[in-house]
Amino acid sequence: MGLFVKRLGCCTLCDEPVFEIVETMKVDGIDMPKVLGKPLDTARRVHLILTGGTNMALTFCTDCSVTPETLPEIYRKVRLAWALEATNSTRTQIGGDEQSLARQWQIGAHQTGLTNNVPIGVLYEESMQDAMAMESLR
Ligand SMILES: [Zn+2]
Repeated sequence: MGLFVKRLGCCTLCDEPVFEIVETMKVDGIDMPKVLGKPLDTARRVHLILTGGTNMALTFCTDCSVTPETLPEIYRKVRLAWALEATNSTRTQIGGDEQSLARQWQIGAHQTGLTNNVPIGVLYEESMQDAMAMESLR
């Protein structure tokens, strides 16, 4: 069973770690990052604009880019992550059935109004070091 949900501290697209992983936990036999250390030099923060007019920051590695070709896969992973949050699912479902998770997402999205909020392009991107420096100033 493949892993189809974004893992903490890993690239949204290729799933390579972009943070030091200090501690992991086993979920369905898969090592899931639990405690993160410093970002690696390959970590980037990409700010996307959504059709609802809001924006969303996602983490990528330097090898992956946000293009019209990769946006659908990015959105698929993000909405599955939203499904886990919206339905308060436990992490044990990450290795489970994508169809049932997708159904849960539709229910959760309907409840939270996320259904029509789709990423459509890049606002800007920055290194993770810069992003974290900015966040500490806020
Ligand atoms: Zn990547």
